[in-house]
Amino acid sequence: MYELSPPAVYVHESVADNETYRGRAEGVVNALAEPVEPIVFSDEDLPDLVNKHGLIENRKPMGTLAEVRDPILMFNTFRFDGRGDEEVARFKALGIESEDLIRELLGYRAFHWSCYNQEGDPHRHDKVCRPCWRVHLQHGCAHRCDYCPLGGLLVSMVNIEEYCEHFGRLVERHPWQKTYLLDDDGDPLCLEPEHGCLGPLIEWFGTLDERYLIIHTKSWNTGWMEDLRHNGNTIIVWSVTGPKQSALIEPKTGTTEQRIEAARVAAEAGYQIRYKFKPIIPVVGWREEAAETVKMMFDRTKPDIISLCVYMWQDVETMVERLGTELLDPECLRAAYDERASVENTRTSPFPPRIRAMIYEHYLGEIRKHDRDIPVSLSTENFAMWKAFEDRLGMTATNYVCGCGPQSVPGAKKLTDHAFKVAVRHPDEVPASVLGLEAPTLSPAQEEES
Ligand code: SF4
Repeated sequence: MYELSPPAVYVHESVADNETYRGRAEGVVNALAEPVEPIVFSDEDLPDLVNKHGLIENRKPMGTLAEVRDPILMFNTFRFDGRGDEEVARFKALGIESEDLIRELLGYRAFHWSCYNQEGDPHRHDKVCRPCWRVHLQHGCAHRCDYCPLGGLLVSMVNIEEYCEHFGRLVERHPWQKTYLLDDDGDPLCLEPEHGCLGPLIEWFGTLDERYLIIHTKSWNTGWMEDLRHNGNTIIVWSVTGPKQSALIEPKTGTTEQRIEAARVAAEAGYQIRYKFKPIIPVVGWREEAAETVKMMFDRTKPDIISLCVYMWQDVETMVERLGTELLDPECLRAAYDERASVENTRTSPFPPRIRAMIYEHYLGEIRKHDRDIPVSLSTENFAMWKAFEDRLGMTATNYVCGCGPQSVPGAKKLTDHAFKVAVRHPDEVPASVLGLEAPTLSPAQEEES
């Protein structure tokens, strides 16, 4: 696992009281860079941990913090007891304001329905994605990306056997969903293999028929996965970025080369690998960095799909607050300031359409130098950009395949069903209050990872 020095480690009593679960938390604690004495806590301690002991003090975009430390680690268990709503009300009364945080800390966020491009999605006419179930084991991350607010606290659930039991029911009831993206709000490779949770999940997926787990990562850490019985049912998607971005803006991730090497190792062990250039930050020299990275990818690996997404979901001031200006390409930065009106009514700001199109053109050109046929899609772009690129990509907003789409099985070239219509949430699905599912839209932090 990663070399980590968390300022504190909290272990819920449901973990401490169970030998298997405790062993998982201890596996991580024993591998920390410096010894930390874990603190056992109960539900009743949570309001004080949040409001008096700074549990979420550093859950802020990391580029805005004077000092970024490794996250506090917290181990807990998912709950499937139907009491999510009740507990949310109780803990709100006890002084924890955020419903999402209460569900996260208490273990009521195992699975959620993402209604992208369907009724209930406030951005359905602006952001193109795929409606589906998304699944979680962790919330929070050790990677320290400047633009990301998911540092400060890493909450990890350890009752993987019970989780798989409930997951199995979800899979059975949604035959149209072939792939399941894990942890769009974390990077589950950071604590493995000492944590011992991801391996059992991969092996459980290995027993399923034509259903795939998707792990989305910026990690270097795949060596431990080689001997798992994954049966070809786990896909690993690397968010890959150029050398400057990976080293300076995403400081504790794998470097560009390390991520590609990790992909090579995984591919050699039989995992399907693919890439997303996401988020593409136009740093000084971005064209050369893109060319170098694309070449390295194709020299060393054989992905089945590549997706592209320019940095988005905030105005230019917010971007500069998180990233500074020194590393950014002056032409792109100037355009973000001068042409802000062109992105006023879309969530794809801060870079105007002509800049994003220029960047996509360049990446596509570099990719086509190495592979004329690999499907290349846009990720979470808007409909206007899709329209502009559909001929060149040979796919449309409704039939493209991508890194983590629910029908993007290994080797897929184009969807045969309409992506927004085929996704139907089963009416007899376990009631939302049982699983803590009522979160129709993702937070901006989750969107950054999706
Ligand atoms: S952007 Fe992703 S990899 Fe980076 S810190 Fe956030 S969750 Fe981790």
